[in-house]
Amino acid sequence: MAVPQNRVTRSRRNMRRAHDSLVAANPAECPNCGELKRPHHVCASCGHYDDREIVAMTEEVDLDDDAA
Ligand SMILES: [Zn+2]
Repeated sequence: MAVPQNRVTRSRRNMRRAHDSLVAANPAECPNCGELKRPHHVCASCGHYDDREIVAMTEEVDLDDDAA
């Protein structure tokens, strides 16, 4: 197994990690419901894409009612 020959200082480690931060997403407004959605993805709240309904949304199902 490869073993590091020299200790990486806090400074060098932190300089390496300076580029590791995540970049925020660029949400776009859904033209159907106005909710923020990921660009080029089906809207998570209404299931529309390109003014068409792709995923049919159902009412919230209460699992306790179903089991009874
Ligand atoms: Zn939507």
